[in-house]
Amino acid sequence: MLVLVLNSGSSSLKYQLMNPETAEVKATGLCERIGIDGRLVHEANEHKIKKDINMPTHKEAIEIVLDFLTNGEDKVIDSIDEIQAIGHRVVHGGEFFNQSVIVDDEVIAKLESLIPLAPLHNPANIMGMKIAQEIMPTKPNVAVFDTAFHQTMPASNYMYAVPYEDYKEHGVRKYGFHGTSHYYVSNEAKKMLNKEDSKVIVCHLGNGSSVCAVRDGKSIDTSMGLTPLEGLVMGTRSGDIDAGVLSYLMDKKGMTAEETVNYLNKKSGLLGVSGISSDLREIIEACENGDERAATTIDMKCNRIKKYICSYAGMLEGVDAICFTAGIGENADLIREKVCNGLEFMGVELDEDKNKVRNDENREINTNSSKTKIYVIPTNEEYVIANDTYKLVKA
Ligand code: AMP
Repeated sequence: MLVLVLNSGSSSLKYQLMNPETAEVKATGLCERIGIDGRLVHEANEHKIKKDINMPTHKEAIEIVLDFLTNGEDKVIDSIDEIQAIGHRVVHGGEFFNQSVIVDDEVIAKLESLIPLAPLHNPANIMGMKIAQEIMPTKPNVAVFDTAFHQTMPASNYMYAVPYEDYKEHGVRKYGFHGTSHYYVSNEAKKMLNKEDSKVIVCHLGNGSSVCAVRDGKSIDTSMGLTPLEGLVMGTRSGDIDAGVLSYLMDKKGMTAEETVNYLNKKSGLLGVSGISSDLREIIEACENGDERAATTIDMKCNRIKKYICSYAGMLEGVDAICFTAGIGENADLIREKVCNGLEFMGVELDEDKNKVRNDENREINTNSSKTKIYVIPTNEEYVIANDTYKLVKA
């Protein structure tokens, strides 16, 4: 069985053709600058192609992808018939969805009603589904949500301390994101621990970053909130901030509410504090060259992660494993070291040599005497999407 995994953004489309039974990836790629001009990066048969191709809308982008999959020297299938289903990454499922679902008109209507909660993401996700239905009308589509895994959070963790009617009338609560990644990594950790009643903290550290407390395979708290702005210091997002800063900045800089939220989402975080880049690699390099602001930025990033780990360890009443994943979590040994150092009081002992090893495997990087395991687990969100799609379509 082959599943086409689609992640539709406002001007981009990430895709992967995968066999969920074997986790074999047949092809992967990215369409960018859709509606502007169009650029394709396509990888198949260990061959990477980069091409400028006109993509006025997502429809042409999907058609181009299907053409690359079925034609030319790098084709991986003979016809679209070999694709059994399409799995869509959907950012916001609100309180409607606590698991993946087969897409129908009712699902689309619910996702449309959630647009005010995810105005940048849900419209693009819905568009991807509608176009897939139009181009491949006989294929089932499945929606896999970033929020679904966190629907197990208790009200005491997902509520904000604002008047209750704001939750009831306007859905103001914490939803959490990166759910497919937190699910995948915590599940891998559970297997590595070989323990049913596990207490796991997952640090998904990429350009967007979040931490999740997982008890017995269920999310009980996570650092992102109503939107992905809350929590850790990210590439361009501030993470946690005194809400009073918003009105203060609006006043001082003459910005509207929307401009201020945009400022906290796009101009803040690592980029804003360092003044260098949102890419941590460049900040680490500057720090090594003696840039003090870069050093402070790195410490801010690590201290915030540490704060969440300690708070979640308290909530879980102990922790069996701390897991690192995504671009920074999987690759930046310096960050893992800075986060883990000082946590020996809670049984966390990092092995410096194991921490420096680089590969694509799940690995344990704690000392033999460490009470708490420290794992690096490469995330695989596409696999979760393909596998959920497979399970729903097969049923
Ligand atoms: P992601 O969003 O998961 O693709 O992660 C992207 C981020 O990972 C980039 O912004 C980089 O800052 C970071 N990253 C990737 N490799 C490294 C590395 N070797 N050291 C530090 N940061 C890295």
